[in-house]
Amino acid sequence: MVTTLAAVLRELEVARVQDVTVGMRRVTLTGPQLGAFDTASDGGGVTVPAFTTPGFDDHVKVLLPSPGHDRPVLPVQEEGRLDWTAGGVRAIHRDYTPRRWDARSGELDLDFVDHPAGHAASWVGTLQPGDPAWIVGPTLTASLPHGVDWLLVAGDETALPAIGRLLEELGPDHRAKVFVEVADADHEQVIETQADVELTWLHRDGAPPGSTDLLPRAVTSTSWWQGQAFAWVSGESSMLRPIRQWLKTEHGLTRDCLDLTGYWRRS
Ligand SMILES: Cc1cc2nc3c(=O)[nH]c(=O)nc-3n(C[C@H](O)[C@H](O)[C@H](O)COP(=O)(O)OP(=O)(O)OC[C@H]3O[C@@H](n4cnc5c(N)ncnc54)[C@H](O)[C@@H]3O)c2cc1C
Repeated sequence: MVTTLAAVLRELEVARVQDVTVGMRRVTLTGPQLGAFDTASDGGGVTVPAFTTPGFDDHVKVLLPSPGHDRPVLPVQEEGRLDWTAGGVRAIHRDYTPRRWDARSGELDLDFVDHPAGHAASWVGTLQPGDPAWIVGPTLTASLPHGVDWLLVAGDETALPAIGRLLEELGPDHRAKVFVEVADADHEQVIETQADVELTWLHRDGAPPGSTDLLPRAVTSTSWWQGQAFAWVSGESSMLRPIRQWLKTEHGLTRDCLDLTGYWRRS
């Protein structure tokens, strides 16, 4: 089931920047605006709710400065919505998964894949503790459907934050077959889970991201477990089509048991 959340712009602060692996940088954000707040210091502005991220594949928009600028163009907070065009210049933003949200310590982790051509990827390389950062969202959140016997999960490293969070949040009564494509063994992560998980790492071994059919080949040649499956697949867009086709035609998965999302497109 998909639920809509209020669109909120939050100004946060970088608490820490750490390398999770050689290809993934974790930015921990904190600040009073992760709680409920009023946009005006005298309390006469718009009151917005506290940050929440109920679902493993929620995403926030990270707002980025345009080249040569220190600060991003920001949307204007209105009651229940944001005006993205108020300044006449549209904000630059990219989507990232809340990898960890600890409401008690007020810390939010976002994991950024390092790649040479990216605006967000290079911005992250400049971040230091104390720097400001702005996020919007999540504005949508989805829960796993009921009555599912097992999960088929696949993705490249951009999906790893969501996959890691999913596996950590699954209880012992869940079963999952998981495929993750990364550059090589140095990019694998240790993920704790209580669930019964069969996790397969796929290595590109020198091939550029988004250039192989590793994921479709691995997924479509896997043995199919008994019972009702729910399939969640995310990553580079072109690998989704063969997987979607196979899930629908070979295994009769219907829309309510399919969640396939292109996270980026190779160009
Ligand atoms: C719902 C959702 C959640 C996401 N969660 C995450 C997340 O938690 N962590 C994460 O790292 N990404 C995540 N992504 C993917 C991320 O938003 C894209 O990879 C985004 O394009 C990165 O922005 P950029 O500014 O670095 O690169 P862009 O400026 O958007 O792209 C520049 C060039 O880099 C290429 N490129 C983009 N991404 C990659 C990549 N990963 N590897 C190699 N080449 C690339 C593009 O093809 C383009 O040629 C998510 C996407 C969605 C839709």
